Amino acid sequence: MTISKKYWNSFAAKMNPYTPGFQPEADPQLIKLNTNENPYPPSPAVLQAIQNINSDHCRLYPPAVWDDLRQAISTGYAVPVETVFCGNGSDEILSLILRTFTMPGERMLLVDPSYSLYPVLAAASGVQTVKIPLDTDFQIPFNSLPQSGYSVAFIPNPNAPTGILASPGKLERFIAGFAGIVVIDEAYIDFCDHPDSSSCLSLISKYDNLIVTRTFSKSFSLCGLRAGYAFADPSLIAGLLTVKDSYNLNIITQTAAAAAVNDMLYMKKNAAAVRKTRQTAVKRFQQLGFDAVPSQANFLLVRRSGTDMEDLYNYLMNHSIHVRYFSDLPDYLRVSIGTDLQMERFFAEVEHYLA
Ligand SMILES: *Cc1c(COP(=O)(O)O)cnc(C)c1O
Repeated sequence: MTISKKYWNSFAAKMNPYTPGFQPEADPQLIKLNTNENPYPPSPAVLQAIQNINSDHCRLYPPAVWDDLRQAISTGYAVPVETVFCGNGSDEILSLILRTFTMPGERMLLVDPSYSLYPVLAAASGVQTVKIPLDTDFQIPFNSLPQSGYSVAFIPNPNAPTGILASPGKLERFIAGFAGIVVIDEAYIDFCDHPDSSSCLSLISKYDNLIVTRTFSKSFSLCGLRAGYAFADPSLIAGLLTVKDSYNLNIITQTAAAAAVNDMLYMKKNAAAVRKTRQTAVKRFQQLGFDAVPSQANFLLVRRSGTDMEDLYNYLMNHSIHVRYFSDLPDYLRVSIGTDLQMERFFAEVEHYLA
């Protein structure tokens, strides 16, 4: 059946929606390594905070500018509260950035491959995307990035789906020379070997065209909660505050996310465990003849000469192991880092397949 688009605006009518990774029903037998979720639970303080939600919390509107959560982030990251923004997932913030800082017909700069949601958000706002291909080893070709003619540039760091980290020094030179707003999407920064020195967060006080976005989904194990945050010069934050929905974060999310930030150590321990498993997984992949792209995130992009990755993907799925296959990166599989036990089962099935 073809859907009528009679009432759709012309941007919506022309665009394709985002393709999310498969979300199977929860099943303890199933190993889910396809959407970069954290295999470890969130801090117990988060679940406690959710249990403390009462009738009045539900009856009343939540804080419009997320007072407690914003303060917790400001304290946790040692930045002024006016430089902090919160969203219903960092995806909402990315969308809001376009609604606030671009006009239809303007252009967005992307590297390719990167996060597949960006072009979807651009299309919904009538913004043209220009994709600069990554180098053969998936590095950003900084010398060939244009500096003007664009309202925004979106760069994930570490990049997705490669996991490659660009140095903040190179990014800073790009930000300094770029005429529009640069969004550094740090969804995976906590999984880097050196998160603090890898982040562009310290640059927000120096550049008024920089927005650093973060999420509670991955390192804080809160994908289901939908909470993201961003740091930028107060002039940009004021723009986002002007355009945002009146109450964009529900009270459960605000309370739970604040509890998560206040227990930063718990997140860091989980991230360290993921990092350790990533190192082991790289070695296992290499032993089995795979090349793993050097990742600083909680996933590995791998390939193996002579092996049909789509076939391996289907084989794994038939054995209750879900990984991600992208038809525009047909030589690769993306495997999220699970627990050590999950990775053992994953590798056992891969060995079976190869045998
Ligand atoms: C997962 C992911 C996000 C989404 O974060 P949410 O807060 O869950 O919306 C943003 N950017 C990148 C690059 C991601 O991989």
